[in-house]
Amino acid sequence: MSNRDATISRLGINRRDFLKFCTATATAMGLSTSVAPRIAAAITSPNRPPVIWLHGQECTGCTESLLRPSHPTLDHLILDLISLDYHETLSAGAGHQAEHFLHESVKANTGKFILVIEGAVPVKDGGVYCQVGGRPFLDMVKELGPQAAAVIAIGSCASWGGIQSAPPNPTGATGVPTVLNDIPVISIPGCPPHPQNFLSTVIHYLTFKKLPALDDKGRPLFAYGRLIHENCERRPHFDAGRFAGRFGDEGHRKGYCLFKLGCKGPITHANCPSQLFCEVGSGAWPVGTGHPCFGCTEKEVGFHVPLFTQTYIRNPTPAATPPPVDAEKESGLTAGGAAVAGAAVGAAVGATMMAGKKAADSQDDGE
Ligand code: SF4
Repeated sequence: MSNRDATISRLGINRRDFLKFCTATATAMGLSTSVAPRIAAAITSPNRPPVIWLHGQECTGCTESLLRPSHPTLDHLILDLISLDYHETLSAGAGHQAEHFLHESVKANTGKFILVIEGAVPVKDGGVYCQVGGRPFLDMVKELGPQAAAVIAIGSCASWGGIQSAPPNPTGATGVPTVLNDIPVISIPGCPPHPQNFLSTVIHYLTFKKLPALDDKGRPLFAYGRLIHENCERRPHFDAGRFAGRFGDEGHRKGYCLFKLGCKGPITHANCPSQLFCEVGSGAWPVGTGHPCFGCTEKEVGFHVPLFTQTYIRNPTPAATPPPVDAEKESGLTAGGAAVAGAAVGAAVGATMMAGKKAADSQDDGE
């Protein structure tokens, strides 16, 4: 049996579904579908990169999200793709045995392993507020980071401190990029992040032997390059000026825009509306279920701006998909009048697609 057939057999899927997955992964990374065969080759390669996975201040939700998708192949793929040498939650061994294996793995794979860090790093008082094996987590991160081939900060806590870093931040919790500020760190924020974003990042690294393109906050552009607001399924309601005013009111029941309830989608970059969660079909993401976006993938937003505080729209962007032609508000407020409604709630604009385009053009002019 070839390596490919053995991998496909282990995943419990057929060859067609495997190739469909590779094509979908290429698409999710914004790449041509012609790279799918290279992705398939990388996934089925017997050379699996060693991964050391550390836990700091966190809830293990990122690991749960990765390993408990409703789609059965995703967790199998992750565990098949990498050699998970050390993971404090999943390791069978514990105590000195686990610590010994960690050091053996680092020694054998220096410069070759991928270091994944889940959780914030407390730096106050020498990092005494989070210790593993009797050592400050801060010291472990500083020691292992420079020895890794790549460092991935998974989740909002590892990316910039997450909820632990919310004021008054008693432990001085911060993100891995702040601690390892002299080496590149890939951040995959989210509370939790979508497992596909982690998987795609690893697959990109294995396929092309380099990291995917990152934004100025170290996030893969393929996943965090667009605002949630651009791809939101409720965007036509925003453009038409149809808002939910309170939880359970008529607008909320009808699936109107959640901007007035504090939705942070207009200032939050992530692919949640297109990836969805739990693979259970449309609507499986916070806004889809009727809850305003919390902004967990943005450093200055999630856990820092109160949940129901209305945001402002500094740089209006057009929707990624055109609004429906019948975009008339039931109360009589026309699409054009949405700008007035937006102003009334403190927004810069609640605009039609054309109005958004106009505003974007104004931005280009420096306004
Ligand atoms: Fe969607 Fe929120 Fe934007 Fe409304 S404000 S369209 S709910 S992202």
